[in-house]
This record gives sequence, C-alpha cells and structure tokens, in this order.
Amino acid sequence: MRNVDRPKKPPSLCRNATRWRKELLAALSSTKQDRELINRRFNRYNKEDIRTALKEMYGGLCCYCESKIGVVSFYNIEHRKPKKHYPEYTFEWDNLHLVCQMCNTYKSDKWCDTNPILDSARDNIQDHLSYKNVGRIRWPKSHRGTTTIDHAQLNRQGLLDDRLEIALPIMDAIHDLNDDPHSPNAGLARAQLKEKASGKYGSLINWLITSYLQDPGASDP
Ligand SMILES: [Zn+2]
Repeated sequence: MRNVDRPKKPPSLCRNATRWRKELLAALSSTKQDRELINRRFNRYNKEDIRTALKEMYGGLCCYCESKIGVVSFYNIEHRKPKKHYPEYTFEWDNLHLVCQMCNTYKSDKWCDTNPILDSARDNIQDHLSYKNVGRIRWPKSHRGTTTIDHAQLNRQGLLDDRLEIALPIMDAIHDLNDDPHSPNAGLARAQLKEKASGKYGSLINWLITSYLQDPGASDP
C-alpha cells in the first residue's frame, strides 16, 4: 500500500451520486424490501468512467497489496467504508478505490471504527506501514497499520512469495551499487531502481532502496 493522488470526480458521479444515494436509501428503508431493486441500486457505481479514473489513480495496481490487476483478475471497485454497513457512502468518490479480487474477498465488509483501514489518498501510509525481513513481511507501525494488514491479509502466503521474488533481484542490484557506486553502469542502475519503485510493489522497492542503498557520496575519499 502506498500514497496516491485522487483525480477529480468522474462525470457519472458528478451527475448522479446525490440521486443514486437518495434512491438507494429509500429502497433500503422501504417496508417492501425488494432485494432485486436494492441490489440494482447498490450497483449503480459500476460505471466505466469510475473504473477508468480509479485505474489511473492506482496505475492499475491494487490499492492494498500493489499487485498488478487485469492480468489474472478483474478490476474491482472497493468501498473502503463497506457499503453494507454504510450505504450512504456507496457513491462517495472519496470512498472508492481499486482492488484485486483477493484483497476484495479478504477485506469484504470488515470495518474498525477505532482504528480504520488506511486510505491511500488521505493517510501518510509510511507512518503506519513498514516492512521487515527484506520486504517479505508487511510490518505495522500503528494500530491502523495492524487493521490494514489484518483486513486485507497483506501477509498472505502468495504475497510473501511474490514479494520475495521481487525483493531478491532488487537487493542484488543494491549490493552491486554499494560495492561499486561509481561503475559505468551505476547511473543507469539507479534510474532503473527508481523506475521500478513506481510500479508493482513500489512501496517495498522504495523501502529497500531507503533501507539498504548507500549514498554514493559517502564512499568518496
Ligand atoms: Zn490486492
């Protein structure tokens, strides 16, 4: 999980969110309890422009685990505050995120009022989440970090394995740079590390760079 900037609200939400919210709450409070109608009204957020804006916001990566979505999973829209418990937030732009199917399934309708799951666009993620064991383990720095790891299962086995696979070659590149910081390829290697830090598992790559890559000036005589 890492920080992102939220783009402006997509047109379909600008036009319809207030009405959709009103009509959903009306269906929910009706004595008839028409499940089909309620489901239809709940699902009105499922629009292409909303999905596109979220894909751009997250560069196609899951808001929680930073895996690349779209290759093996559909792009799911996440309601950080679960719509089941907070239907009034179903069409709130600030409540919508992009999530992979795994994180979506684990997080489901979980919510903790005292220490809520982190918000990539509003919280400073680095204040709450770190790594340990060369990036294999997501490590909490706060109670909200603990909630986030727990609700999205950020230390599930598949992620531990995948993160390690990413971390090992990054660590090799970092060791090479530390051993010979002024080699002819050092500039390119640094640029490649920086570029990788903006992609899949970017928070892990950034953490490895910050924790292990030495300042090239430090070894100057
Ligand atoms: Zn995920």
